[in-house]
Amino acid sequence: MSLELSESVLAARGERNRVAADRPVASFLEDEWVTSDSSKRALTVLIANRECPWRCVMCDLWQNTLTRSVSTSDIETQLQHAAGMNAGNFQWLKFYNSGSFFDRAAIPTKARDVVLRFCRGLERLIVENHPGLARREVVEFAARLHPVRLEVAMGLETANPRILERLNKGFDLNDFRKACQLLGSGGIDMRAFVLVRPPWSYSDQAALEDIRQTAALAADCRVGTLTLIPTRGGSGLMKQLENQGHFSEPGLDLLKDAALMARGNFPGRVQVDTWDLERFRSTRKSTSGHRAGFEYFNRHGEFPTRT
Ligand code: SF4
Repeated sequence: MSLELSESVLAARGERNRVAADRPVASFLEDEWVTSDSSKRALTVLIANRECPWRCVMCDLWQNTLTRSVSTSDIETQLQHAAGMNAGNFQWLKFYNSGSFFDRAAIPTKARDVVLRFCRGLERLIVENHPGLARREVVEFAARLHPVRLEVAMGLETANPRILERLNKGFDLNDFRKACQLLGSGGIDMRAFVLVRPPWSYSDQAALEDIRQTAALAADCRVGTLTLIPTRGGSGLMKQLENQGHFSEPGLDLLKDAALMARGNFPGRVQVDTWDLERFRSTRKSTSGHRAGFEYFNRHGEFPTRT
């Protein structure tokens, strides 16, 4: 992580949103396909906690974080609140904390017991984690979680090494490979977040080629799921990059093409992040049409024939 770049990221930031320590930022149920004719329902909880220590150029997740650590009981209350707000059965928990589950300043070590208890009877727990925090303790936690499977989601973002470095991610592709080796050898499933049209990707064609190469790298690292994230601009350093011609938000048409490109070049499962989807433009269909189409894609692994 470059100190100079980190300072530029901080200097360009605006205001933080109001976030309570004992309430999740958001929670919702969503379906993910697992085979061509079956899907699982996940309770996704966007946990309120202390902000991530990395300073990635495109990250806007800090807006919904706190400047102090939360307690174990805060985490417990947040999970209970999310369960109470989302009636119905779910088999998976996505515990997303806008940072790393194994960052002890963000999620207290004792809170892992709370998460273990909450997961009893579920099939899978998915947590976010920076590749730099892929350590033995992750494997030990997975063993305690068994028979619930642990899946670790990492922000790979791109297989383009120059863009990855300029994003200030704090790891290189070799670090990512090593993290996958350690997690894979510990029997942990892996998911990679991938940006659709990151900064310094100057055309839709270049963005699609980047998706193809990133899917190939993830497959080589035995990643099981790719989640495509349309790169969001409009804040902090991203606004400056946009004004300088180094970034342009992807449209929904490109997002759909990226999903198809990933499906064609990745043997595992592909998902599309539909958070805040309405901000992205489309020339082919109405935005609401696209949301329904992407949600269908996430449930079935293909687009409905009329979308
Ligand atoms: S590691 Fe993830 S959460 Fe942390 S700053 Fe980077 S993109 Fe944001």
